[in-house]
Amino acid sequence: MDNKQKRFFLTEDEIPTQWYNIQADMPNKPLPPLNPKTHEPLGAEDLYPIFAKDLCHQELNITDRWIDIPEEVRDQYKYYRSTPLVRAYGLEKALGTPAHIYFKNESVSPVGSHKLNSALAQAYYCKKEGITNVTTETGAGQWGCALSYAAKVFGLEAAVYQVKISYEQKPYRRSIMQSYGAQVTPSPSMSTRAGKDVLTRDPNNQGSLGTAISEAVELAMNTPNCKYVLGSVLNHVALHQTVIGLEAEKQMAMAGEYPDVVIGCFGGGSNFAGISFPFMRHNIAGDTKTRFIAAEPASCPKLTRGVFQYDFGDLSGLTPLLPMYTLGHNFMPANIHAGGLRYHGAGMIISQLLKDGYMEAVDIQQSETFKAGLLFSKTEGIIPAPESCHAIAAALREALVCKETGEEKVILFNLSGHGLIDMSAYDMYLSGSLQDYEVTDEDVSKNIAELEKII
Ligand SMILES: *Cc1c(COP(=O)(O)O)cnc(C)c1O
Repeated sequence: MDNKQKRFFLTEDEIPTQWYNIQADMPNKPLPPLNPKTHEPLGAEDLYPIFAKDLCHQELNITDRWIDIPEEVRDQYKYYRSTPLVRAYGLEKALGTPAHIYFKNESVSPVGSHKLNSALAQAYYCKKEGITNVTTETGAGQWGCALSYAAKVFGLEAAVYQVKISYEQKPYRRSIMQSYGAQVTPSPSMSTRAGKDVLTRDPNNQGSLGTAISEAVELAMNTPNCKYVLGSVLNHVALHQTVIGLEAEKQMAMAGEYPDVVIGCFGGGSNFAGISFPFMRHNIAGDTKTRFIAAEPASCPKLTRGVFQYDFGDLSGLTPLLPMYTLGHNFMPANIHAGGLRYHGAGMIISQLLKDGYMEAVDIQQSETFKAGLLFSKTEGIIPAPESCHAIAAALREALVCKETGEEKVILFNLSGHGLIDMSAYDMYLSGSLQDYEVTDEDVSKNIAELEKII
């Protein structure tokens, strides 16, 4: 019998009562978002037409290190938090690595991913302000599912624009959103000016997150009592996700360890921020030397091959200009299965942290990620989301380096979600028909050249 403890949990009382706002500790604060027309820095009030007021203030808060989690939100967290921290003994054994591998299992949330951590918070703040309707976009559908459920919990109506390719490839996510009572529209659609513009130019357009965001923002701006909510990229979303890392910090202490390497997959940055920032604060303070690795798809490599530049969050240029590592808002990534990672830019905080050397990024081809995901399935029993497979692949690379050097490093990665609704992607991998996509330097430089040079 082996008596080694495998999973670490917190009691309800130990669930964090505050989120961690890394902006307060950053030596270089993120540059401000800009008004898209005047290029003047935006204040919180300028964001009020789009987002709930409390969220606007969280977005631009560079002074308060800790932000209270409202009791109503924390109460909802108790339905699935703490999520387990798991020591991946099976994976370690299969790899023959001396590394200690841990993962934080966010796939146990009712909707199957970390996205609910911010959806609940955003729905709560909208409700508190007297908002009745929320609208958003979703790629693979995880954010749409999380928001649909959170809206229902707080008594709001949700309208979701789902990227058309996912709407067709992943019909079950649409059914889940509809089961929670949301209205789901494939994007581009004819219901908005932004959608019509795209369809007029290209009737077969398969959609992108950028287009779907334009549609949702447009709906929010034209509908009374309706706010837009976003599942990633923004500072307040990263803030809400820090509940992941704050729990993990306590759980690692229960395991008697501290991570040498922290890894998250990277779409817009929210789950990576969530697992990393609480640990990164000790690096910023000079107390630790943990490495932080964001794992992005080779087909959408904004961190490794993009430029640091002001760019729009959406395709039509309705959002504020955000300082970010970007491939250009016109960049159309290949239809990889990790739909949640197909976004052209990175969050403002992450972009500044990468620029300042507090973190690293790697880009990985999808065949390597599915190979890693299948080894994880066979050894730990959980089918990971295609997005999460990127984090696993990066963790395997690190663990295999340890095998060569004999180092007993402690590796922590975030399992951002499960892949039980993504089995068609696994089918393709297993049948050998999954493709890798190489982005050419021309693709990258073409879109970047079209950006207005503001930095
Ligand atoms: C949305 C999503 C991601 C990517 O988004 P981030 O904001 O970068 O975390 C990763 N994993 C899963 C399971 C997702 O649903």
